Amino acid sequence: MRNVFVLLITGFLILSCTTEKKKDDLVSEIIEKPLKINNPIVTDKYTADAAAIVHNDKVYLYAGHDEAPNDFNFYKMNEWLVYSSTDMVNWEEHPVPLKTSDFSWASGDAWAAQVIERNNKFYWYVTVSHATIEGKAIGIAVSDSPTGPFKDALGKALITNDMTTQTAISWDDIDPTVMIDADGQAYLFWGNTICHYAKLKENMIELDGPIETIDLPNFTEAPWIHKKGDWYYLSYAYQFPEKIAYAMSKSINGPWEFKGILNEIAGNSNTNHQAIIEFKGKDYFIYHNGSIQPNGGSFRRSVCIDRLYYNEDGTMERIVMTSEGIQ
Ligand code: CA
Repeated sequence: MRNVFVLLITGFLILSCTTEKKKDDLVSEIIEKPLKINNPIVTDKYTADAAAIVHNDKVYLYAGHDEAPNDFNFYKMNEWLVYSSTDMVNWEEHPVPLKTSDFSWASGDAWAAQVIERNNKFYWYVTVSHATIEGKAIGIAVSDSPTGPFKDALGKALITNDMTTQTAISWDDIDPTVMIDADGQAYLFWGNTICHYAKLKENMIELDGPIETIDLPNFTEAPWIHKKGDWYYLSYAYQFPEKIAYAMSKSINGPWEFKGILNEIAGNSNTNHQAIIEFKGKDYFIYHNGSIQPNGGSFRRSVCIDRLYYNEDGTMERIVMTSEGIQ
């Protein structure tokens, strides 16, 4: 009996020492391996409304430059920025490729935009304010290189506010997103409050038919059109402050079936503005929040990237926004 008691005490002492040692290991591990925070991806500037393309094994990410002073609570945006990466983690900034002043007919406001490649040229569809036609407008810049320099491709707006009259607001013609379907037909989607879409000619600078509308529940703005497998996906900013929701279809012309929320309200920002790409076999969700403190927020935003996952039935899993981002 006495031997059993000694054994128990010895065992308890050994266990206590081991637990202490494990705690020490854990503490040193935490100190030695701090979290690698990769969101937001740009920390020396405020960036927003990102779009991205893959070209020659590189991702090119385009963003509006939020330049609002810390005491100014509206958008101040005069130029767009471009970054490139081969791994989605390390981003190289290139010289400013495009400014609102590159469009002689525009009065400012470098709002959301998207670049797409066709026939070895890069077409950049942008939102700006029109100098002489009231409201926002969509223009197109073109370049032989994904990093520019870009120049006005048309010399005038492709879409002006007066071309769409379903709503009286002057900012319903914003947030262009473009896709070239498998048969070569290009489509432009855009809108605020109303989701508009139209075909584009192969030259990418003229409409190829009437402007149609799509009925989507609680559509605010920021449509993004993409395809994965047999499915077309139309994601968009839902309500305000913005969540990102999406609809799916087997045809780019619809009918679209609403599938619910894809991403929740982004921290400290009333907009969210997604882009979705596939790169080297993985899928990514690009968005912005207001996470740079102390002055980040809805008008001083920051682009972030997290993984996106598809379910077997083609639906998308809800995004988990992380501070770690892509590792
Ligand atoms: Ca309009």
